[in-house]
Amino acid sequence: MTSPKFYQLSKSERLARLVEANQLSEKDAQFLAQSQPLADELADSMIENYIGQYHLPLGIVQDVMVAGKVYQVPMAIEEPSVIAAANNAAKMMRLNGGVTIESGQRVMFGEVVLTDLPQLADAVKWVDNHFAILQTVAQKAHPSIVKRGGGLQKITTTIVENRFLKLNLEIDTKAAMGANIVNTICEAIAHAVQATLGGTILLSVLTNAAFGSVVKASVTLNPETLATATLTGDAVAQRLIDATQFAQLDVARAATHNKGIMNGIDAVIMATGNDWRAIEAGAHSYAARTGHYQPLTDWSWTSDHQLRGQIAVPLPVGIVGGSIGILPTVQVAQRLMVIETAEELAGVIAAIGLGQNLAALKALVSDGIQKGHMALQAKSLAIAVGATASELTTLLPQLLKAPHLNTETATTLLSQIRAENR
Ligand code: NDP
Repeated sequence: MTSPKFYQLSKSERLARLVEANQLSEKDAQFLAQSQPLADELADSMIENYIGQYHLPLGIVQDVMVAGKVYQVPMAIEEPSVIAAANNAAKMMRLNGGVTIESGQRVMFGEVVLTDLPQLADAVKWVDNHFAILQTVAQKAHPSIVKRGGGLQKITTTIVENRFLKLNLEIDTKAAMGANIVNTICEAIAHAVQATLGGTILLSVLTNAAFGSVVKASVTLNPETLATATLTGDAVAQRLIDATQFAQLDVARAATHNKGIMNGIDAVIMATGNDWRAIEAGAHSYAARTGHYQPLTDWSWTSDHQLRGQIAVPLPVGIVGGSIGILPTVQVAQRLMVIETAEELAGVIAAIGLGQNLAALKALVSDGIQKGHMALQAKSLAIAVGATASELTTLLPQLLKAPHLNTETATTLLSQIRAENR
């Protein structure tokens, strides 16, 4: 008899299987089994006006192969079907050799903007000629990042509308996302520049257009991997390419295309304690960088008739800093992933985004998105109208057969089941 699949197990059986496979320690499994809330004292110290906690399910994408290494990837998400799709894609990609990281830059940008400078061109020259002085200012502002081998690397200047002087600071924040590090350095540089050149400091802050942290990753698939009961792999692959080309031409579609990618990316960002607002802002500003909002992935045929998918997305993630060292679940998630550097984490997240896009496009251009979603939507609906775990077994098959999958149907069917069981 074959052993049940991971998704067919109960939560405690899944945890036991992860422990058995040495992917999770006994202690971390016990922690997840208990689903303890944060200690009030800790939560109260993290935010202002703390009044309670908000919980999300934590799931796992198994065996994601990136640059030859296999990862167990945690996802924190409320949307049904995202994790199932990610697992499906991870399997397709692994069967084809996994995801390759093509490039992964990692530098954060900060903006310092001054106004009221009488001689903008002279100001530009001064900044361009005095980098060494400004670098010393940055080192003094944040000495610990310099000790770690990071800090201010470069400053470029732009005059905007003959009114604003913008300094773009390139800062290596090492293993941290670095918003606070960048902001500290930006403010120190702003004051130093103003002290010499005059003018008014308008703002000095990190930019979330994190184009210095773009990860490019790709996967090459034998089209046969994509075959469905009704379509050949070639046909699915061609439709997938056509759907991507349509997204390149149609902003309405590009937005949805990218939302699907962010389903995967955000869920891992959340599970690893990173800042999903920063990641969202970066991804969409990158998608719009040419002035025409574009999909973050591209799919095409290779010369030997394989399907090649590529993703390029800014992923300024950290493995230290912010809430990462504070949240116990994030620590477990990090240990589960076995991640050593922020670059490595960014690569895995890019692979997840690419896979999520593959699974979504495959469903969309073959069976349609609703087929796979129906069972999960029915379950959410049944729970929302108050069905218990034992009632779900009877209610779900009836709901899926009903002509209209909606609250009214779910409520009526549930009342009938309860009446019959009385
Ligand atoms: P922190 O302010 O926590 O800074 C990271 C700290 O981690 C460093 O100062 C450093 O302190 C320590 N550290 C330990 N090991 C390393 C290492 N190997 N490499 C680098 N640093 C290390 O976090 P960030 O600066 O990363 O800022 C992220 C937070 O800022 C997030 O919570 C984000 O939500 C928030 N934020 C985001 C903004 C945005 O996106 N626009 C704006 C403002 C805040 P030490 O060297 O002293 O040990």
